[in-house]
Amino acid sequence: MTILKVAVDVPLDSLFDYLAPDSAPPPPPGTRVRVPFGRRRPVGLVVAHAESSDLPPDRLKAIIEPLDAAPLFDPALLKLLDWTARYYQEPPGLVVAAALPAPLRQGKPLPEPPARVSARGPAPDAMRKRAPKQAALLDLLATAPRRTDDPNLPPGWRAAAARLVARGLVDIEAEPAAAAWTAALAGPALNEAQAAAAAAIIADLGRFSARLLFGVTGSGKTEVYLSAAAECLRRGQQVLVLVPEIGLTPQLVQRFAARLAAPVAVLHSALAGGDRLAAWADARSGRAAVVIGTRSAVFAPLARPGLIIVDEEHDPSLRQQEGLRYSGRDLAVMRASLTGIPVVLGSATPSLETLRHAREGRYGLAHLPERPGAASHPRVALVDLRRHPATEGLSAPLLKAMRAHLEAQGQVLLFLNRRGFAPALFCTSCGWVAECRHCDARYTWHRRAGRLRCHHCGDDTALPGACPGCGADLRPAGEGTERLEDALGREFPGLRIARIDRDTTQRRGSVDRILDDVHAGRTQILVGTQMMAKGHDFPGVTLVGVINADQGLFGADFRASERLAQTLVQVAGRAGRADRPGEVLVQTSYPEHPLLQRLLTGGYEAFAEAALEERRAARWPPFSHLVMLRADAARPGLAMSFLGACREALGMREGLLVLGPAPAPMERRGGRWRAQLLFQSDSRPVLRGALAVLRERAPELAEGRGLRWFFEIDPQDLF
Ligand code: ADP
Ligand code: ZN
Ligand code: ZN
Repeated sequence: MTILKVAVDVPLDSLFDYLAPDSAPPPPPGTRVRVPFGRRRPVGLVVAHAESSDLPPDRLKAIIEPLDAAPLFDPALLKLLDWTARYYQEPPGLVVAAALPAPLRQGKPLPEPPARVSARGPAPDAMRKRAPKQAALLDLLATAPRRTDDPNLPPGWRAAAARLVARGLVDIEAEPAAAAWTAALAGPALNEAQAAAAAAIIADLGRFSARLLFGVTGSGKTEVYLSAAAECLRRGQQVLVLVPEIGLTPQLVQRFAARLAAPVAVLHSALAGGDRLAAWADARSGRAAVVIGTRSAVFAPLARPGLIIVDEEHDPSLRQQEGLRYSGRDLAVMRASLTGIPVVLGSATPSLETLRHAREGRYGLAHLPERPGAASHPRVALVDLRRHPATEGLSAPLLKAMRAHLEAQGQVLLFLNRRGFAPALFCTSCGWVAECRHCDARYTWHRRAGRLRCHHCGDDTALPGACPGCGADLRPAGEGTERLEDALGREFPGLRIARIDRDTTQRRGSVDRILDDVHAGRTQILVGTQMMAKGHDFPGVTLVGVINADQGLFGADFRASERLAQTLVQVAGRAGRADRPGEVLVQTSYPEHPLLQRLLTGGYEAFAEAALEERRAARWPPFSHLVMLRADAARPGLAMSFLGACREALGMREGLLVLGPAPAPMERRGGRWRAQLLFQSDSRPVLRGALAVLRERAPELAEGRGLRWFFEIDPQDLF
């Protein structure tokens, strides 16, 4: 008797046992099955076979039907799914659901790979009258064989082809996936550092290694990826590339496709279900040579995995923050290790975690210190806002520099990490401030839309004409990208100004259009948020202005300074990529702040060195491990008392520091009151032990009724 261990997408922390049908061989691990589950018939994934079950035989049910002829996931990937569930303390079914494209989750079949349809000859005359459709198809195929996914095949051709196959007039043969790709790589000759980095990666093909590729922006990291990828493809192995956000980096996809001249599949959540499934199937069948995707692509099956690349490894978007919470980067390293292939983590501003691994020799390190060719590093200077106050975000020195660069035909990029017109709206007479009715937060005024919007819960409400308290006029405070755009329009009449933020990039293709205009030189000034700082290449930009660096200087989160340093360096890196030297102006009210001074004089490395020392002294990650228990409730106080009871239930434990419970810094959000309890330890086993106790005890606590709570492993934002 074979017992199937099945992961079912229900919020229960276990696998479920089912009987395999006796008639056929049992569905192998990695295949989907439909199972009876209460009154539902969900799709599950067989993750293992077993000889026996803890359930009494009369309670074991048989599966309803197998759904796949062959496994969707290979053993290494099944191990990764299992590891993910254990490490992140999530139900195995939830992990499997995150790994499967929606149509497969719903039980739809895996699409068949395209096949080649060919005719043995043109249609005989007799057929043209009797069966004109079949004849037309035969004639078409006689000119040249087609692929089954060829859009030029006439509608309904499959039925006609089936009859012709039966009569021996047409053949349909599965197209074998290429055994290897030529990966013609026409590109710049690599400089010494690039060549060394590529050679080191190539030398590791076929075995596990993790390597940080630390190269300043524009130093040619992508050329190193391409070079190593080309060699991997020539050996017939696929390359998986993880990027923070694909919509923002269409250039990277094009560059891989064009330079490697091999099929590239793109996987991200904004794709329509069918497209995503097709890309997934191509990855699995080995038809796609390169698979480029966002964090969830770390679970994409690969027929012949050879190399994993994580670009911008420091980027917080590589982490999934909802549902299954995981780090795509960390899982990429684990997957490479389970598969026995190299993984490359690339960044100009590596995370302190990765940097420490590299320093202590657990990861290899390849450095690209220079920009190739004539491109030089940008000059960075601070503008002291106390001496040069800004009006609507713009100080006199910044305006002066903008004029000079624009006159010299350079483009200007201004970074402001706040969308909307103004982050607050207040009454000039009584001091009333427009605050979200669901959150402890202010509404942002979106003037174009004429709305007040909460950036924390998404609430969207009409703009009051006057102060609801006293009827006086309302005034905006501070500035967002909309306001900056307006101010620039007045300062630089006649110039074309574009804005990149979440409001201007909602529609599909809008990012591409904005970027095209910048690249073609039609746009002179570009205003944008964080979105713009991600991996774009703006060769014509010679001046970058950071409107306000101060938001990140005094952040409560221990990662705030790391984030700020990364953003500043990334934004600065957009300038002066081509042969014109770039200039960067950073507006701040705290020019003497050590973080800014260190960045200015020593660059990211000097910053990171000091930041690692601070983390070591304070025992923050990467010098300790963290787990956050978060709870929220519809009424105040409940989350706090639940977490207090959790702390009590756990008691003191050797080697474990428990911080809290504390209300979340924004306690009320989206109408729920939130609190958190933080666990810190040097030892993962100690943390796991504490979690195990809590997972058992917490559900029994009376204080937990009506509450939502969950663990977050390695939380990125403590607040
Ligand atoms: P990164 O990925 O580090 O930001 P890229 O690989 O995009 O850098 O390279 C930046 C620019 O420099 C690109 O236009 C690229 O074509 C060019 N480049 C990279 N390596 C070389 C090289 N060895 N010789 C000449 N140009 C290069
Ligand atoms: Zn008022
Ligand atoms: Zn809100």
